[in-house]
Amino acid sequence: MLRLNEVQLPLDHPDDALHAAILGRLGIAAEEMLGYTIFRRSYDARKKSAVILTYSVDVELKDEGAVLKRLAGDRTVAPTPDTNYRFVAQAPGRLKSRPVVIGTGPCGLFAGLILAQMGFNPIILERGKAVRERTKDTWGLWRKRELQPESNVQFGEGGAGTFSDGKLWTQIKDPKHYGRKVLTEFVKADAPDEIMYVSKPHIGTFRLVKMVEQMRATIEALGGEFRFQQKVEDIAIKSDNGQGQVQAVVLASGETIVTDHVVLAIGHSARDTFQMLYDRGVYIEAKPFSLGFRIEHPQSLIDKCRFGPSAGHPILGAADYKLVHHCESAQARGRAVYSFCMCPGGTVVAATSEPGRVVTNGMSQYSRNERNANSGIVVGITPADYPGHPLAGIGFQRQWESRAFELGGGTYDAPGQLVGDFLAGRPSTALGSVIPSYKPGVHLSDLSTALPDYAIAAIREALPVFDKQIRGFAMADAVLTGVETRTSSPVRIKRHDDSLQSLNTTGLFPAGEGAGYAGGIMSAAIDGIRVAEAVALSMLGKN
Ligand code: FAD
Repeated sequence: MLRLNEVQLPLDHPDDALHAAILGRLGIAAEEMLGYTIFRRSYDARKKSAVILTYSVDVELKDEGAVLKRLAGDRTVAPTPDTNYRFVAQAPGRLKSRPVVIGTGPCGLFAGLILAQMGFNPIILERGKAVRERTKDTWGLWRKRELQPESNVQFGEGGAGTFSDGKLWTQIKDPKHYGRKVLTEFVKADAPDEIMYVSKPHIGTFRLVKMVEQMRATIEALGGEFRFQQKVEDIAIKSDNGQGQVQAVVLASGETIVTDHVVLAIGHSARDTFQMLYDRGVYIEAKPFSLGFRIEHPQSLIDKCRFGPSAGHPILGAADYKLVHHCESAQARGRAVYSFCMCPGGTVVAATSEPGRVVTNGMSQYSRNERNANSGIVVGITPADYPGHPLAGIGFQRQWESRAFELGGGTYDAPGQLVGDFLAGRPSTALGSVIPSYKPGVHLSDLSTALPDYAIAAIREALPVFDKQIRGFAMADAVLTGVETRTSSPVRIKRHDDSLQSLNTTGLFPAGEGAGYAGGIMSAAIDGIRVAEAVALSMLGKN
């Protein structure tokens, strides 16, 4: 098989044009090609009147060697790389103890899956409920203002990404092609096939719920065990000269599970668990994260700006954007403002896990056909903004989440303001053409005290700059809601680069977003695979 890259065709090309283009590029007759599959399809919409599709294809030929030899100088043609996943280990017949995975987000699910596939029979513990029950609880906040602190957007089967846009791309380096393994397993769990080849795959909430259930069934069939509503409240660690060794995890029920291998895939919102780990002496340090607001525009505005006359084309779908501005004004100098977790054709969701606090985030369905585009507009902050203690970032998040609850009227409504009013420095009193999607509701207010002054100044500086890239971005009627604080973990639970075990606690494998080693579904899942491999090797005494 050989891979042919950069096959370019117009957006509306006929079905057979790709076949013809491959033959033309390889300089072969039709009978020499046995077949082809699309490895990647992306678009280039820089010239809006002539959007181009770019394909990478894997081609099967009668005489591949001859074609590769003839096109030896062509950098767009090469043998197809082997991206098949290979297990690093296989469990022996009898295990001394079973590995425990804490958390069923993408990281914990993939750690659990890979361990189960290698025969290590993991026990997978989740503080929240199974995904169907969790969905009801999550809607309880959105519809009835009733928050379940252990079952919500952040906690429960599937983790934080379950009620999301399900964007699946990542910019991390992936030399071992673990991303392919993740996509392959997602497709086996009933994700749409196209995620294997579109350049920016997404899944959407409804399908994610089903996929999470399917993955659970697969892991159970392989000997893994899931236990829901089982919060890990303590970890027993034996200490010797400053170096700990995990001995057991202790559940909220009081039950102790003896194990010497624990994957800590707890996500960025397990604040009580971070505190417990700190109290037990596990090495943790503060890390940078971002805070800001969600912004909503009509999706049609973004589509038109991105795709011009091709807006609405089914291959292009709802348009997304990615914006960054580096601030120069005295109050915000050196701060970066950027769009975060952009959800085309989606809704803003209530994403708090703690009572008396308001947090925004975004989600969508696979169709992405809601009226508004939404995105976080967030400002980078560092531990210098919340100095003094490794867990100080959590207190900082809580401070602004409580402030948002207060500004929203104390009912879980999000405080909101029109962009025109925000830029002019006056409170909003009435909505314009953009109807915000956040449920249970939006309480119009003045957001100028909803974040630190430097963050307000930074966002005020950035919005007009973004308007130059997407005309209408700073439209007066666009709506800001807030606050966006759960952008990534406020801590890093540091681990060794090779063994992936905690710096000072052997047998503890900090993983995924909560530990500061991932940001997003894909990178968290990939980290889960890496950590599962490290656990397996350690259990076999090879690491
Ligand atoms: P999590 O998914 O947070 O999972 C951690 C799990 O651990 C949770 O289920 C939690 O209940 C459990 N847990 C925590 N503490 C304990 C304990 N003590 N005992 C037992 N269980 C515990 N990313 C994208 O790439 N694309 C998107 O479109 C996207 N949209 C998002 C939309 C929303 C609304 C949210 C909230 C996030 C979104 N994200 C998105 C981010 C993405 O969800 C996270 O990056 C990802 O889920 C992190 O995976 P994780 O497995 O590391 O942690």
